[in-house]
Amino acid sequence: MNIALVGNQNSGKTTLFNQLTGSNQHVGNFPGVTVERKEGTVRYKKEMNVVDLPGIYSLAPYSSEEKVARDFIVKNKPDGIINIVDASNIERNLYLSMQLIEIHVPMVIALNMMDEVRESGGTIKIEELSCCLGVPVVPISASKNEGIAELIEVAYKTFRDRVYPQQTDYCAGEVHRTIHSIAHLIEDHAERVGVPAKFIATKLVEGDISLRDELELNSNEIDMIDHAVKEMEDELKTDRKSAIADMRYSYIEKVVAGSVVRPGVDRSRERTLRIDRLLTNKYLAIPIFLSIMGLIFWLTFGVIGSFLSDILGEGIDGLSELVRRAMESVAVNPTVISLVTDGVFSGVGSVLTFIPTIILLFFFLSMLEDSGYMSRVAFVMDTLLRKIGLSGRSFVPMLIGFGCSVPAIMSTRTLPSERDRKMTIFLVPFMSCTAKLPIYGMFTLAFFPKQAALVMISLYVLGMVLAVLTGLLMKNLIFRGKPVPFVMELPNYRLPGMKSVLMLLWDKTKDFLTKAFTLIFIASLVIWVLRSFDATLNLVADDSDSLLAGIGRLITPVFEPLGFGNWKAVTALLTGFMAKEAVISTFAVLTGAGSANLPEALNALFTPVSAYAFLVFTLLYTPCVAAIATMRKELKSRLLAIAAVLYQTGFAWIMAFLFYQVGSIIFG
Ligand code: GDP
Ligand code: MG
Repeated sequence: MNIALVGNQNSGKTTLFNQLTGSNQHVGNFPGVTVERKEGTVRYKKEMNVVDLPGIYSLAPYSSEEKVARDFIVKNKPDGIINIVDASNIERNLYLSMQLIEIHVPMVIALNMMDEVRESGGTIKIEELSCCLGVPVVPISASKNEGIAELIEVAYKTFRDRVYPQQTDYCAGEVHRTIHSIAHLIEDHAERVGVPAKFIATKLVEGDISLRDELELNSNEIDMIDHAVKEMEDELKTDRKSAIADMRYSYIEKVVAGSVVRPGVDRSRERTLRIDRLLTNKYLAIPIFLSIMGLIFWLTFGVIGSFLSDILGEGIDGLSELVRRAMESVAVNPTVISLVTDGVFSGVGSVLTFIPTIILLFFFLSMLEDSGYMSRVAFVMDTLLRKIGLSGRSFVPMLIGFGCSVPAIMSTRTLPSERDRKMTIFLVPFMSCTAKLPIYGMFTLAFFPKQAALVMISLYVLGMVLAVLTGLLMKNLIFRGKPVPFVMELPNYRLPGMKSVLMLLWDKTKDFLTKAFTLIFIASLVIWVLRSFDATLNLVADDSDSLLAGIGRLITPVFEPLGFGNWKAVTALLTGFMAKEAVISTFAVLTGAGSANLPEALNALFTPVSAYAFLVFTLLYTPCVAAIATMRKELKSRLLAIAAVLYQTGFAWIMAFLFYQVGSIIFG
């Protein structure tokens, strides 16, 4: 049994999907988080397979997501649709429901956010709503796990018995006549494609021609349709789109009047408005945002994160020492001991110590996102982003980019214009991702222990400033034109669901652990081998005679002007191409220092000025392979992806050069 989960953006689809299937997809209180369809089986009804589709407002394919969702419903013919409706925003949500009902597939409405309706003192007469619409309606609260069992039960029965919507005729007056005459005309074509004639007729009246080619109408029929529509427009004195929208909304108005009891005052809306007066205030919005981010960084890097990382680091070093002693006591070959302690423990351990910092950052970011605050920031940022030729919508992918570039680049699919999309994809890598945190963390510990938070913030800000510069450059050189206007409704403030936040954190931790024990593990081994043997596979006494040193020296001259022309730094940058965390594990292996001694070892390789130049370089240079592959896929062009990589690496070199040269003059 294939079931499509369809609803507006931000109506709680993903939350419901997670409740139904027990998985933990990312939930966010702003539109545009789900970009790919996700599938899963219902926990207690294994025969039900649910697909979480991207949020849509209408079945007209305006954006690429609407197209994905619509094609799925119309072409894949699911056995049933669960239409999730945000009860606190019922009119707009029902606009989609009406179109879904017209497709004539067994359908159940899950009326979500009932907890908010209840809290604000309103009610919804479920039976009357269900009766007017002709489909079963089940009140639920996805985030509080209320009504989910009933929903599964009702949906299962409806889909199994193939109960079709009872009511499919919402049209009235002149529109009604037009739709029916067109439906009549195309009936045989529609039957062939297997889509209800009335649904297609409505779409044709609306002016949506994406289905027309499949119908293979002859020119005579097309003329007749155009003529009928023209007549209707003349009669109603409106255009075709508004004629249909008017008709749907007047029906919805009638339904809502009969079934929704509004509270005297909508408390959660009022609260939202009050908070918004402060947070989106013309003058205060940006200072408030910067202070919140500053506070988060200070907590993550300065106070809690480094403390926890230190404890973890000591634990790992202690364990490494224990293992070394144990192996020595049974007289294991010294090369093997070195492989285990200097290779594996140093490499993987140096990266693992940053888990607390990363979890903290994700915790704070997901709190901001889930509460609804980030939508406001996107809104406020619209004015600023417009100056570099982007709209507020691009803020969402950039924000996700602070976590990881891969999902960030994928989330650009929610942007309606191709131009905005390409530009955003180019800018996302400037947002410093969490994989770079271990590098910043270790270097600030080694060179700027007193100004840790400040140095961190400076790097993040530098990334953003350079993104702005790049944006300006691109706007004036390549991507001329204007961004599309930004319309995004601001969701009510909500208390973040602890369960979804915890699940997200667990997910990130799992990702990070997997990476540490696979990619970083292997990279550490390879680096250890390359630095321990020479070209003739003899063990070297001094690692500067090793194979790796030889390779590294070929490239070092390039980095000489940046202040870190030593083969260890160069090797670290090369492995960073695989995954940014590997930069630190490589240093750990190459210097043979545990995480406690690594800062000291780094001091032998860098001066504070060249260390900062190195950080600038890692901030900017080419993102990891995974990000490049995603870029290529989303840009649909190898050439553009290569151009992006070259641009970023070139830019990184220039900036690191400037910082090193100017820094040397000032501090040298
Ligand atoms: P999607 O965009 O349709 O996938 O929506 P999400 O599942 O990402 O949810 C959007 C926001 O609504 C999140 O902040 C959820 O925590 C919140 N949410 C979802 N269901 C409910 C509910 O039943 N009650 C309340 N109060 N909030 C909910
Ligand atoms: Mg979603």
